[in-house]
Amino acid sequence: MQKINKENLQAFLQEQKENWPLASSNYKGLEKVEEKEFQFEGFKIKVQFNPKRIKSTAAKVDKKAIEKRDCFLCEQNRPELQTKIELENNYSLLVNPFPILKEHFTIAKNDHTNQNFIDHIGDMANLAESLEGYSVFYNGPKSGASAPDHMHFQAGENDFMPIDTEYFDRKKNYGKLVTWNGRFEVYRFNHYLRKMISIEADRAQDIVSASQIFYRYLEKLQPNEQEPLLNAICVYKNKKYRLYIFPRKLHRPSQFFAEGNGQLLISPGAVDMGGVLITPRKEDFDKITKEDIISIYKQVSLDDLVFDKLCHDFTKLVMI
Ligand SMILES: [Zn+2]
Repeated sequence: MQKINKENLQAFLQEQKENWPLASSNYKGLEKVEEKEFQFEGFKIKVQFNPKRIKSTAAKVDKKAIEKRDCFLCEQNRPELQTKIELENNYSLLVNPFPILKEHFTIAKNDHTNQNFIDHIGDMANLAESLEGYSVFYNGPKSGASAPDHMHFQAGENDFMPIDTEYFDRKKNYGKLVTWNGRFEVYRFNHYLRKMISIEADRAQDIVSASQIFYRYLEKLQPNEQEPLLNAICVYKNKKYRLYIFPRKLHRPSQFFAEGNGQLLISPGAVDMGGVLITPRKEDFDKITKEDIISIYKQVSLDDLVFDKLCHDFTKLVMI
């Protein structure tokens, strides 16, 4: 396993900040972003005002719009000053020039191939191991990815998203064991605004097989989609893989499309599901309320009954 240590990654980021004006100005801008927190029962949700994210939040990701533009993750279209770290398994690690996190990377596959979770879940686990100390995250083509046509992950420092620090407490106090079979342990999380399951395993291949079972079930719920709507976050710590999956039912909440004062330009992706809502407009940052947050997560997450059935059926499938 190729290990990329933190010092090398930080040196790479520093080099890009020094030599690439876009990265330089946007990482400087990040120092001034505003953040606030909303406290819920035993957990928190952060809101970040980040004007540089407007492009990504408001990105048109329908087929037509995507076909019209040059893919910004393909090597031949990347800015000349954007350099890369070549990774194993046909991936390149790039500095994300529109950061949310202090160390924000995009990990793009070297081929132009559709964003796809299930064929790359093993890669995701391996990347998390290579990048220990970072969270690797995935946005589905209709769940926050601004390049749905080019397979990629993102990575950022651990402990930025509340889920990173809340996980074990949450699991102890509110998590419910779905199944444990000696190879992987699956928990479900209710009362967390968004619906989430976690998979923990010692081996990447067990993360893959547990995810596959879930995925096949999710696929049946949304048969007309290119892939079922979801976000995922993977970390590797203390020789253990941990994967969080957020099954979704909607790309963008009604507030995104509302007009006038009712509009909140929020388009949730993995970071938002991990507990940091990104608002590129100051007025949204100022006016967002606890009720808005509850409503947004509720709209984009699977419904209670569907989630219950998913977890229930998963237990049965594992036992077969
Ligand atoms: Zn591409």
